[in-house]
Amino acid sequence: MGLRRSGKSSIQKVVFHKMSPNETLFLESTNKICREDVSNSSFVNFQIWDFPGQIDFFDPTFDYEMIFRGTGALIFVIDSQDDYMEALARLHLTVTSAYKVNPDINFEVFIHKVDGLSDDHKIETQRDIHQRANDDLTDAGLEKIHLSFYLTSIYDHSIFEAFSKVVQKLIPQLPTLENLLNIFISNSGIEKAFLFDVVSKIYIATDSTPVDMQTYELCCDMIDVVIDISCIYGLKGAGTPYDKESLAIIKLNNTTVLYLKQVTKFLALVCFVREESFERKGLIDYNFHCFRKAIQEVFEVRVKVLRSRKHLSQI
Ligand code: GDP
Repeated sequence: MGLRRSGKSSIQKVVFHKMSPNETLFLESTNKICREDVSNSSFVNFQIWDFPGQIDFFDPTFDYEMIFRGTGALIFVIDSQDDYMEALARLHLTVTSAYKVNPDINFEVFIHKVDGLSDDHKIETQRDIHQRANDDLTDAGLEKIHLSFYLTSIYDHSIFEAFSKVVQKLIPQLPTLENLLNIFISNSGIEKAFLFDVVSKIYIATDSTPVDMQTYELCCDMIDVVIDISCIYGLKGAGTPYDKESLAIIKLNNTTVLYLKQVTKFLALVCFVREESFERKGLIDYNFHCFRKAIQEVFEVRVKVLRSRKHLSQI
């Protein structure tokens, strides 16, 4: 959610539809509620609701209770290049209304369009928005509502990074995935590994070493290269550009190797390996085989649990 022109549609198009940021200049502003399912093409089994900013919570025709009851995360977008006082008032109203219906929602605030701000200005804007939003909650006696803040822009990878964090909070298996990644990299001499949703370039898990933005950007670029090459030269008949055989190795000129392999229909593992460790590729491939099996089992359990729940509710 967020005010008109804050950048909601642009974020959706850039993250989920590979639109280039410059093309968003020509997007029509959102003025009705739109719903989009991204579950058919992506691991992230969810719907996006794009809300126009000026929603009247007291309008009886708008059943926000129904929507918020099933919501995992509410992202509120604030245009940092504009005067944000009205946005803050809207944020407060939105968060408090949603919290009343569903106290389990994660509230995520994207301080957006920060590409136009200097580094000092970014920090200052984040501090100011953080302070004011939390003061408003305290004044209303709702300090228990937790808001998370992210500095974002569609002109760099910050929007993908922020979306990754938002999505990770919604994945119950995250600790298991992180654990598997830790075991995999430490037994294979790998520096860093990410598990990516290929379509959106959201990383749904990584090992516990720190994430640095450059490494993440390289991984995103690699996915783009692989999919583009595959689309141009690899499609036979009705094939898809990403399948069981998908695999790529890119050697950089700084003795690092980037290694990408398919894990499931939607997920890819992207690793950073030193050249000397990559000489033991047989070991990496064997460990990868075990890793892939484990990941598939993790998600099979989830499917079984979901099926049995459905079955129970039918009974
Ligand atoms: P909506 O009404 O909230 O859906 O807003 P739009 O997505 O239509 O975006 C409004 C304008 O903001 C468009 O001209 C976008 O190009 C621009 N915009 C969106 N995101 C960014 C960003 O990260 N940085 C900059 N500088 N402009 C952005």
